[in-house]
Amino acid sequence: YAERSYKMLTEKYTRLGLDADTVEKEVMADILNDFEQGFQGWEYKFNTVASSRGDYPFITMTMGTGTGRFAKLASITMLNVRRKGQGKKGQKKPVLFPKIVFLYDENLHGPGKPLEDVFEAGILCSSRAMYPDWLSLTGEGYVPSMYKKYGAIVSPMGCRAFLSPWFERGGMKPADEDDKPVFVGRWNIGAVSLHLPMIYAKAQQENRPFHEVLDYYLELIRKLHIRTYAYLGEMRASTNPLAYCEGGFYGGHLKPSDKIKPIMKTATASFGITALNELQELYNGKSLAEDGQFALETLQYINDKVEQFKNEDGNLYAIYGTPAESLCGLQVEQFRKKYGIIEGVSDRPYVSNSFHCHVTEDLTPIQKQDLEGRFWNLCNGGKIQYVKYPIDYNHEAIRSLVRRAMAKGFYEGVNLSLAYCDDCGHEELSMDVCPKCGSRNLTKIERMNGYLSYSRVKGDTRLNDAKMAEIAERKSM
Ligand SMILES: [Zn+2]
Repeated sequence: YAERSYKMLTEKYTRLGLDADTVEKEVMADILNDFEQGFQGWEYKFNTVASSRGDYPFITMTMGTGTGRFAKLASITMLNVRRKGQGKKGQKKPVLFPKIVFLYDENLHGPGKPLEDVFEAGILCSSRAMYPDWLSLTGEGYVPSMYKKYGAIVSPMGCRAFLSPWFERGGMKPADEDDKPVFVGRWNIGAVSLHLPMIYAKAQQENRPFHEVLDYYLELIRKLHIRTYAYLGEMRASTNPLAYCEGGFYGGHLKPSDKIKPIMKTATASFGITALNELQELYNGKSLAEDGQFALETLQYINDKVEQFKNEDGNLYAIYGTPAESLCGLQVEQFRKKYGIIEGVSDRPYVSNSFHCHVTEDLTPIQKQDLEGRFWNLCNGGKIQYVKYPIDYNHEAIRSLVRRAMAKGFYEGVNLSLAYCDDCGHEELSMDVCPKCGSRNLTKIERMNGYLSYSRVKGDTRLNDAKMAEIAERKSM
């Protein structure tokens, strides 16, 4: 469309008798304006139009690999619009949707490479708005391997779910060397999470091997997924014509009266894991930062088991590091009811998310990246790594840590505690009282886990108590 506007506007301004240099300048200014208004339009719509649940629709957009001059302009403008924020003059704040994910290719965005300016616009944007999150296409691990081998991009769905490969001809395995994986138009049917500390405590109390109790719960989740595939497969295509009849989903060219079972085989189903830190604490009183070996062995065991289920059932099971927005509190309540309060396990109102180190650990960002990197390739169905930047909007630190994460193959988030005074418009990281005017009427944006959320709006708390307790204790998060 930008190409078309360019052609049309060039003809128009030339017809008006302007010289070639002025024409070029005016045309490019108009196109930049189109992009700005377009992205602002998205931001207004996605952050004001609620769904029937009373929630905003969760939209994630991946971007940043286009090399044409208009593709670059689109990428940079999208980031600049997010960075500058929305709202009244002097009171602008970044919006939360769409979530923006920057697709990082070392050969395009590395130092001296053709899209280094797009990368820099991204770093500047992250330093003000936390987003974009950064997805490595050229480091190590699963997502980069699909890009390097097939040129295929595995975009996260929602905050962090990644699809397992499905091949055009061979299905779960490639039919031959030319077979290609498909990642567009597919989806996940849901995650069921293991309560690992509870499973370990149960095994101890009943004097049974941990793996025996774990197997029982893995089988339980497996059965739930099999039922969900069967249940959804009975739906008629007419329940969502755009998805199932008009090609919205991969293979979605069914007749309205057809059942959707045939296209369910490309959908993934997830086994969620969370509270690995508390599992390790329960095992030997050490945290993931102090040890982590038992948590690693357990996660490896779960991977082997799920791979076996996948081959036996022909379903695309995946392992997902659960974000646990409210589950982080629910799991503690469940645990306390049966096993009481145990130090490091259930003595706080929340458990740690997925394989993350405890938020109170005093770690450098580099230590945290390395500690969590141990679990990276054992959670391919959903994961994110992030580090907190206590320093004030420090571009240098953000740039070098993002590059480090990209070399490792991570999906990396930049964590700041953004705070805005709703009275005078002052903004500062991590403030609870405005230093300029003394107001407590603040809006704060924190990372929930894989996505950002308002923790306060005009002074009032927005999140559940367990999550607020976690946010209050964050050090190296
Ligand atoms: Zn103020």
